[in-house]
Amino acid sequence: MTHEIAVIPGDGIGQAVTPAAVEVLQAIDTADFEFVRGSAGDAVKAETGEALPQETRSIAADADATLFGAAGETAADVILPLRDVVGSFANVRPARSYPGLDAVQPDTDIVFIRENTEGVYSGIESEISEGVTTLTRVVTEAASREIAEFGFGYAKQNGYDDVTIAHKANVMRETDGVFLEAASAVGDERGAAYDTALMDALAMHLVMRPEEYDVIICPNLAGDVLSDLAAGLVGGLGLLPSANIGEENALFEPVHGSAPDIAGEGVANPSAMILSAAMLLDHLGYDEEGDRVRAAVESVLASGPKTPDLGGDAGTDAVTAAIVDEL
Ligand code: ATP
Ligand code: MG
Repeated sequence: MTHEIAVIPGDGIGQAVTPAAVEVLQAIDTADFEFVRGSAGDAVKAETGEALPQETRSIAADADATLFGAAGETAADVILPLRDVVGSFANVRPARSYPGLDAVQPDTDIVFIRENTEGVYSGIESEISEGVTTLTRVVTEAASREIAEFGFGYAKQNGYDDVTIAHKANVMRETDGVFLEAASAVGDERGAAYDTALMDALAMHLVMRPEEYDVIICPNLAGDVLSDLAAGLVGGLGLLPSANIGEENALFEPVHGSAPDIAGEGVANPSAMILSAAMLLDHLGYDEEGDRVRAAVESVLASGPKTPDLGGDAGTDAVTAAIVDEL
């Protein structure tokens, strides 16, 4: 069976790391992919006036999954509609430390399951009078249940024992109250073990004792902030993949952006993007292949060439070649 993969490199280092991930997928001999390229981001906006051309939307909508690199200034105009195109409700952000790398917390293996459709990112903002602004925070029982079902299912499927529900229901009683109640109900119905945690205290615990956490189910903003915090614990943006999962479609992208400071220099770390491709393999049912890619990345991180962000002097191509070799 051939899977159609939309490939949208975008801007900056997206142009370098996305082909690296495609190279890795091509090296998997037990799966067959057809790659369809789409353009998005600053460069295409400068050319056509549109950051996300209709043709790219269609390519992503029709594909079995999408690989997205990064967009620069136009990031919000590209990634928010793209997440809509694939109907994504769950943002999956694993943060783990790797042997052989310097990390603030070398014993971290946490997966953030972030609600991706509502909360304070509902987009309902207004200036009600000069200098006075409001934001409407939308939290529904349906979306809270959906993300919790996904999070508990993810934990079970991936062999994680501990689930934590992050919230701030002591202050945001209505909105986070619904989130906490709905997510807890899902845990109870499943007979799953779980804890609940106030998100501010959780931030402190994550810095001090990340090894105590496995899967953390979060409202939108909390998931965004806490997963970036965890990125800092494990060694930086060049290592963190993510998945945006929808009912029928999904999009995979590194957590980092277009990194204009190093774009075009050939030194971007391809690991985050290649690990995102590993998540794509999992999603399409190629679990073993996903594990093989992760093992190859891990082995190169431990003893292969490293890009400058990890203290080495190798380029994107050399690291990618080492990972493909390892496969
Ligand atoms: P954007 O607006 O597109 O997010 P940015 O300036 O915020 O761009 P990021 O891509 O978020 O840049 O990166 C932040 C910092 O991390 C930059 O200094 C960048 O060089 C570094 N960085 C990010 N990704 C990588 C990577 N894959 N390899 C090496 N360094 C990276
Ligand atoms: Mg950034």
